[in-house]
Parts: sequence; C-alpha cells; structure tokens
Amino acid sequence: MRWQGTNALTADRHELDLRDAAAVTQWFQAQRPGRVIHAAGKVGGILANSREPASFLHENLTMGTNILRAAWESGVEKLLMLGSSCIYPRECPQPIREEYLNTGPLEPTNQGYAIAKIACVMACDAYRAQYGCSFISAMPTNLYGPNDNFHPGDPHVIPGMMRRFHEAKQQGERTVVIWGSGEPRREFTYVDDLAEACLFLMEHYDEPGSINVGIGEEVSIQELVELLREIVYPECELQFDRSKPDGTPRKLLDVTRIHGLGWIHRIGLRDGIEQTYEWFVENRDSVRQ
Ligand code: GDP
Repeated sequence: MRWQGTNALTADRHELDLRDAAAVTQWFQAQRPGRVIHAAGKVGGILANSREPASFLHENLTMGTNILRAAWESGVEKLLMLGSSCIYPRECPQPIREEYLNTGPLEPTNQGYAIAKIACVMACDAYRAQYGCSFISAMPTNLYGPNDNFHPGDPHVIPGMMRRFHEAKQQGERTVVIWGSGEPRREFTYVDDLAEACLFLMEHYDEPGSINVGIGEEVSIQELVELLREIVYPECELQFDRSKPDGTPRKLLDVTRIHGLGWIHRIGLRDGIEQTYEWFVENRDSVRQ
C-alpha cells in the first residue's frame, strides 16, 4: 500500500490536544485512520530538558499512552512511534545497537523525555504481545531541517547556532558564543530523510523492539559549528561557553539493521545545512519560535 498525500490526516495541537485522553479517543473513533505515525512530542534542547524534567516526562508519556490506546481501540492497522537516540544509556558502547536499550543509566539532562519514550517503546511491544497490534517504534538521531524550531532561548544546536551566526552577521558582531566545550559528538539526520525512513518502515518493518534511523556518521560540536560558520558567517570568531552543559558525550547510532532492510539516507550534513539555511533566510519572518 502506498501513502497518498491526499489521504494524509493531520491534527495540530489546536485541533487535538494529545494529552487529553477523551479527545484522542474521540478523534480516532471519528477519523478511523488506517495507519498512524506518532511524531508528536514535547521536545527541546539540553537546557529546556534539564529545567522541566517533570513536564517532559508527563507530556510525552501521556501523549504516547493516549495514542496507543486509541489506536488499538479503533483498530488501526499499523502504527509507528518515534522516539530519539537520547533514550539509550549515557555510557553506551558506540555505535549504539538497538539491543543496548535499558542496559544502563540515562543522561541526567534528558531523563524525563527518555523515560517517557522508553515506556512508549515498551507499550508498542505490549500491545503487540497482548492484542497482536502492528505497532512499531523507531529511534532517529538528532534532527534538523526546514521548519525546525528557531527559538532564541532554548533551541537545539543547529537552529540555535544558525540563528546566532545569522544575527551576528547582520549586526556586525565579531564573536559568536557556543555552548559547552565543543567536544561532544552528535549524528544529525535531515528531516526529509527521516520522513522517507518512516514511510519505508511502515512498509518493511513489523517487529517488536525499536529500530535505529540515522546517517551512520557523527561530527563533534566544534566541527559542526565550523561548518555552520563557513556557510553563514565565515568572518566571525568562536567562543566556547563552558558554563553551559555538554550533555551526552556521544550518541552515534548503529544503522546496520535499517540498511539491511534497504533504506539509506540521501542528504549529507553539508547539503542539509545549506538547504536549511536557504530556507531560514527565505522564511526569516515566519520561522517557528
Ligand atoms: P542533545 O544534547 O543531543 O539533546 O541536543 P542539543 O542540540 O540540545 O545539544 C547538542 C550539543 O550541542 C550539546 O553538547 C550542547 O552543549 C551543544 N551546543 C552548542 N551550542 C548550542 C546551542 O546553541 N544550543 C544547544 N541546544 N546546544 C548547543
């Protein structure tokens, strides 16, 4: 079965509050979707996650359990739940294989989010075991691309730094500040690649346990920032603010399983950042923040 754009149903937060169990049940009963991708979540950068652990835990857990329950009750044929690579233990061997989930302590700065998403992965498996539901889960790396959240206070590193470089260039400021030491390493997947991976998994994956989605390559934050500087504002100087947290040292995903099924990403980091910056400049006045 192919997914047709014209058949896609979406519900933004103004139409449906996913934390409201009754509203979610009602929506599923009325709309009767055949296939569901649960990509919603309360997400944020390292500062937001460490400041509001209770909200990150509560909101992500509630959304997940409400959606899975309503999907089961309304007879959804297949469901994909998205989490993130930050649900793996902080000191995981690298690259991170799917079976390392729940094998060690979590990174403290995003524990609330991680616990909620781990519960959702296990809930997908529980519905499969108890009711035979085709509920699958996938764990992407850090993501970026057009329509990201460019909030000036608490962004993820790519939108945050892109905006800071852009504004420093406009205002003629020579120095741009980067949080942390620049030493942590991260893997970044372009949002369109993730979208394609989701459609691919809906067709080709139907097993308990989650599957990793990524590009299989990592960069240090310093290398990432050098790349952003080169694209946005090559003349500026960098200054590292070591009072800001570094978070997990590394989280490179092992993508052998999804490669084995036949999916591979198409957009590398440089191309992806160039496309995102082009989009950001064109949409500067209307970006999400
Ligand atoms: P996460 O740590 O993988 O959950 O994702 P983030 O995007 O929040 O942070 C990734 C890394 O980039 C961390 O080591 C941060 O310390 C570093 N970093 C550098 N500058 C920034 C920034 O402006 N915003 C954020 N969020 N992180 C930054």
